[in-house]
Formats: sequence, structure tokens, C-alpha cells
Amino acid sequence: MHRAWYTTILLLLMTVSAWADAQDFDVARLGADPVPAQVVAGGLDADFVPVPPSRGQAAIVERARGISWWRVTAREPLAPRPGQSLVLNFPYMNAVQAWRPGDALPVRASLVGPDADLSHSTRGHFIPLPDGLARGESVYLRLQCVTPMRIALTVEGVREAHRKDLTYVGWRVGVLSTTLVLAVLVFGFWVGIGERSYLYLMLALFGQVLYLVSTGGDLRAFESLSALMGQDLRASRIFALAAFISSNSFMAYYLDLVNRQPRVNRVLTVCSLAALALIGWSVFSVSGLIPTLANTVVLVAIAAVIWAMIVAVGKRQNGSLLLVFAMMPLVLLVALRAAVRLEMLGMPPWLDYVYPAGFMLSGLIVTIGLTGKMHQLRRDRDHASHMASYDALTGANSRPVIESHLRNAVAEAHDSGAPLSVVFFDIDNFKRINDQHGHRAGDECLKLVAMRTRNRLRTYDQIGRYGGDEMIVILPDTALKEAIGVAENLRSAVNCRPIATDDLQLDVTLSLGVAQLLPDESAEALLERADAALYASKSAGRDQVTGHIRSMLQAASGAPR
Ligand code: GH3
Ligand code: MG
Repeated sequence: MHRAWYTTILLLLMTVSAWADAQDFDVARLGADPVPAQVVAGGLDADFVPVPPSRGQAAIVERARGISWWRVTAREPLAPRPGQSLVLNFPYMNAVQAWRPGDALPVRASLVGPDADLSHSTRGHFIPLPDGLARGESVYLRLQCVTPMRIALTVEGVREAHRKDLTYVGWRVGVLSTTLVLAVLVFGFWVGIGERSYLYLMLALFGQVLYLVSTGGDLRAFESLSALMGQDLRASRIFALAAFISSNSFMAYYLDLVNRQPRVNRVLTVCSLAALALIGWSVFSVSGLIPTLANTVVLVAIAAVIWAMIVAVGKRQNGSLLLVFAMMPLVLLVALRAAVRLEMLGMPPWLDYVYPAGFMLSGLIVTIGLTGKMHQLRRDRDHASHMASYDALTGANSRPVIESHLRNAVAEAHDSGAPLSVVFFDIDNFKRINDQHGHRAGDECLKLVAMRTRNRLRTYDQIGRYGGDEMIVILPDTALKEAIGVAENLRSAVNCRPIATDDLQLDVTLSLGVAQLLPDESAEALLERADAALYASKSAGRDQVTGHIRSMLQAASGAPR
């Protein structure tokens, strides 16, 4: 299994590093923008400064935004081959104009817009060189640099170029669509559950996809979209910012940094604000300081996140290990890329491939991990709703629930015309039991009374604790006479034999009041009459059942309904 993985990774790296087949070019740079004709004629050749190969490979390494000229000179003759191109690998948003030997007009190359070459993928700019180059001949490149970066130079035949294009497009489409699908899925979770970590994760994933698409030129076939996103760096910066801030917020929320690691939380907040300020600044300025500062901010945030994760794992915080598992590769990739941009490191050839995949992978693992959190939420919610619906001591319905059942039952009875009765009962002299034997014996007694009475009811009858030692029973489809019978049954269930608590035998009795719903009567009025009947039972000496007096009067002159 492991060997299969290693082999896959090795093959991938080999495919990707195939770009590194060194082509012998001398590269030189001119940091000015003179009249092109003068440069192309070789009039300024003396002013070009040689640039040594970067990591053993001819490359344009531009450090400043703006226009610069690059002269690419063949050290060895390059044989003519139809379909052969000079490839500028991964130029992203940096457009270029190229003059080959003898060209009066340049070949223009850009990932998006009218100069885009739709016959190739967006992995590079392709300058056709079918006639090859003689030793010492040069191609002049006028580079419009918007993102300082390293652009490796290679020569590719048509078959090789198309093979690499297909690999790139397949990889890119796979990674981008997977990330997009994840983002939509997570959006669904957020709408469905309302859990805030999903919102942050969704924004981070969407921001990342939009950032990758806007800098990678993937949507250039859709002209209006690419005009919106591709030709203006500001859009991609805003997407990157959204992804950055949402990722920070996700981390802070997921690891509960506000409470658990307030200092790290402050660092992340400052980083988010700094990134926001830098984006604001970049709208007005093209200072080369902005990307440097932005990458520094990213590195600081990453250091803070790594620290927070280490601390969380050290404290065995819930879910922290999963986060490390999901985030470490991504965090390292982002750090690597920022370090490359800051020129602290050379550019590994696979970074352009692995970087977007890192986001996809992290998103996937976090989404899977969050389902664990979802289960926890559901358990908490079920527990909370159980706690709210049932009285903890007696296990009967809680007061709000039994009241709502009563309102529903009343509405249903009015609709269907079926009879409905309620029994209201209260333990006799319960205070005395408490006083004589203690609260614990009282509690036990209440519990057993609830149990005994519940056992005498039908499955569709409802019992609830109204408060203290008072309970209500709802009896659907039951007229007064029958309900009085049920109440008698409840009374005998309790007084038939003493209630046994730990070491006591308590003689307990109930007083009960019964009422049947009258036409157009409200639930409240019905309860009031049952309560009045209960009061009558108490007044008459306790341990008895009373049907409500008015209903009894009505019963004498005909049934209430
Ligand atoms: P009566 O026959 O008139 O009903 O007399 P009583 O002593 O039962 O009086 P009442 O119903 O007004 O008092 C209810 C008492 O129940 C008051 C309170 O101390 C006690 N009580 C209320 N809830 C609980 C409880 O959850 N556990 C225990 N042990 N006692 C409770
Ligand atoms: Mg009582």
C-alpha cells in the first residue's frame, strides 16, 4: 500500500519535473522600457545584465512589478522543428510580448484577453519557434510583470506540449471542481445546520477557487467572466483576502481560540486586519513592498496557526488532531509558496500542481471531520430537547409540552366533535411527607405516584407535571363519565397499597378533579374547571374524585356535547 503511494508520488514528481530538462539559454535582463525597435535591433545589448540560471535552469526571475525586458540567447543551436515553442512556464497574470529573430511585430502572449492562446492550456505562454535558433541568436521578451515570480524557460515540441497541457488541464479541472463541489456541499451544511464553522469553511473554499481561477486564467473561454476576474489583479487579491480571512476565522472558531488561546487569536485578527489594509493600499499603489508585506503577513498567520494547533493537540482538545492532519500539508504548502515569493527558497517544480490540490485535500478532510461535529451537535440538540420536553424527576411531560398537547387536543376535539376530558390531580398533604421524611422521600414518592398513575393510562392519553405535586392527564375520545372512571382508577392505583421508598412505607392519596370539554371552550377554561373540581375534592376531605360541577349540572339536563 505504502509502496503504491510512493510510486504514485514519485511518478507525479517525475512527470512534473520533466519541465526541468535544461535548455541552454543565456538570460539577461534590462530594467527599463525603451523603444522596442531599438532593443530588438540589439542597440541596447550592452545594457542587459546577465541573469544566472535559477536552480540550474534558464528562467526569468522578476522581482519588481512593471515593465522589464529579457533577452534569451541560444547557447547551442536549436534545430528547426515544426510546432516547436519556447515556453514560459506558469507565468500566471504576467503578460509578455516576444520578438524572435527577424520579427518586426511581436508575438503577444497573455493567459486571458485577446492575446490568449486558446490552443494551449493556461500552464504557460507559448512563443512559436518553428525555425529554431542559431547559436547566439536571441528572443527578446517584454514582460509586463504584475506578480513578481520565477518563470522557467523551456523548449517543447508540439506533442510534448500537448501531452503536458492535457495533464495540466485534467489536474486543474479535477482539483478546481472538487474544491467547488466541496464548497457547495459545505454551503448546504451551513444552511441546513447553521453551524458557523461551515460558513467560514465555505467562504475559504470559494475564495480559494475564485483566487486560483482568477490568477490561473481558467475561465478565459468565458470572455465576460475573464474580463471581470482575469485582467484585473484586484479581483484575485480580494478573493485571496476573503480566503485568508475566512481561513483564519475558521481556525479561531474551530479551536475556540478566543477562550483557549486569546493571544494567538489576537495575532490572527491582526493578520486579517493587516491583509485587509494591504489590499486597500494596493488599490492606490503599485509599491513592490505590498507583496512582500502580504507574504510576510501570511507567514506570520501560518506560524500562529501551527502554534495554535500544537497547543491544542498538546491539550488533547476535541478535533484538534484531525485539524492538524487536514491542515499541515496545506499550511506547509502556503508557507512554501510565500517563502518562494519572498525568495527565501527556490521554486520546486511541482509546487504549481500540488498547491491547489493541497486546498482541495484540506477542504475534504475538514468537511469529513466536521460531520463528527455534526453528530455531536445532533446529540446535544436531542439531549436538550429531551430535557425540555420531559420532567426530569417524574419522566412525565413538562408543563409547556403538556399545555401544548392540551391546546392541540382541544382544537382537534372541536374539529372532530369527539369528546375530550382532562383529569387534574394533586397529592394529598404532600408537604407533610416532605416535612416528616425529608425531601428525598418526597421526590421518591412523586416519582412512584407518576409511575403508578401512568401505568393506568392508554397509550394515547397524555400525562404531564403541571408544577409541584400537581399533574394533568389528557384523555382524548373520553366523555366525563368515563373520565371519572379513569380518575377513580388513578386514585386507587395510588392508595391501593403504601408507596415504598428506601426504608419507608408511605400511605399516599390523591385528590382529583375531572372536566369534559364544552362546545367552544378554550383549553384554559377547561383546565380552570378541572382545577375547580380538584379544589372541591380537597374541600370535601381529600382522597376522592370530583367531576366539574357545571358539567354535572349540564349532564343532568343532557350531555355537554
Ligand atoms: P394538599 O393536600 O392541600 O395538596 O396539601 P399539600 O401539602 O400537598 O400542599 P401543596 O400541594 O400546596 O404543596 C405541595 C408541596 O410539594 C410544596 C412543596 O414543598 C412540595 N414540592 C413541590 N415540588 C416538589 C418536588 O419536586 N419534590 C419534593 N420533594 N417536594 C416538592
Ligand atoms: Mg398537594
